[in-house]
Amino acid sequence: MSKTVLQVNHLKTYFTVDKRKNLFVRAVDDVSFSIDQGEIVALVGESGSGKSTIAYTIMGMYETSGGEIIFDGEDIANKKRTFDFKKKAQIVFQDPGSSLNSHQDVKEILSLPLKVHKVVKPSQLETKIIETLDRVGLSEDFMYKSPTAIGGGEKQLVSIARALCSNPEFIILDEPTSNLDVSIQAKIINMLLKLHEEQSLSYLFITHDLSLVRNISTKVIIMYLGKICEIANTEEFYGNPHHPYTQMLLSAIPVVSEEEEQLKPSRIRSTGEIPSPVNIPKGCSFNTRCHRAVPLCFEEDPEMIEVTKGHFVRCHLYGKCKPEL
Ligand code: SF4
Repeated sequence: MSKTVLQVNHLKTYFTVDKRKNLFVRAVDDVSFSIDQGEIVALVGESGSGKSTIAYTIMGMYETSGGEIIFDGEDIANKKRTFDFKKKAQIVFQDPGSSLNSHQDVKEILSLPLKVHKVVKPSQLETKIIETLDRVGLSEDFMYKSPTAIGGGEKQLVSIARALCSNPEFIILDEPTSNLDVSIQAKIINMLLKLHEEQSLSYLFITHDLSLVRNISTKVIIMYLGKICEIANTEEFYGNPHHPYTQMLLSAIPVVSEEEEQLKPSRIRSTGEIPSPVNIPKGCSFNTRCHRAVPLCFEEDPEMIEVTKGHFVRCHLYGKCKPEL
């Protein structure tokens, strides 16, 4: 059995809006999932669903309001991230432009993690940098370039190279290709898959692109307004989507094969508006847009139900309002 690299239990990240009025945004609310060694777990949702907040909370950039983050067997939720954690867990951000220091060249950028984590002896530093650049498909000519002198795709490759420098076992990829041209996106995705294959890396891949997820992930998690709606392994997820929100998202994605077309739910149009995260409706948070809502959906928040082994859905239609067979 593979080792569990990350286990998130009932995680909460709340941001205060107005302390006196007790107003806050539940950006992440009671979220639980796990990632095994070698898994690529896709965290999918629209903007504002809380997926990046989960990433930043795991990395210790946001404080945890509740729950556990168990990494390598230890709960780190309310602890300062250790040197060992920073070596084993890395993050690649959506915008490489703002995450790379424009006053340093690529050699300096990559030298820092190699020195901090004492990955190689000082005499081997340059060789290691060339080797790491090569792993992401960049030539050694890039060593003396500034991030300001290279393209967006190349900047993202440098960010990935920097993440690889500490020999991590787990990498969070926060929409790593969403700002890039399609041709560069494919190149970066293929390179990430090759690295994953070679080193049995575990990825938490944050995206809103369900077409991409189908081809790269082992497990899919769907988020809506800070909560998980559905979790399943990728084959089960695409073959048997249950949650009305998942069905709505899947019905809107373009497919390339007859087989995929047959599995795709028929087109479901979103009706209502996405509620404000500070004013989430009573009951199920998706009730303003759900085409299958029943009266209980406006009264009670559904619980997560395991419908088949490893396939979890948070919807009354699979729990209290399950139709009789
Ligand atoms: Fe729709 Fe009700 Fe299920 Fe929420 S609980 S997804 S509103 S049917």
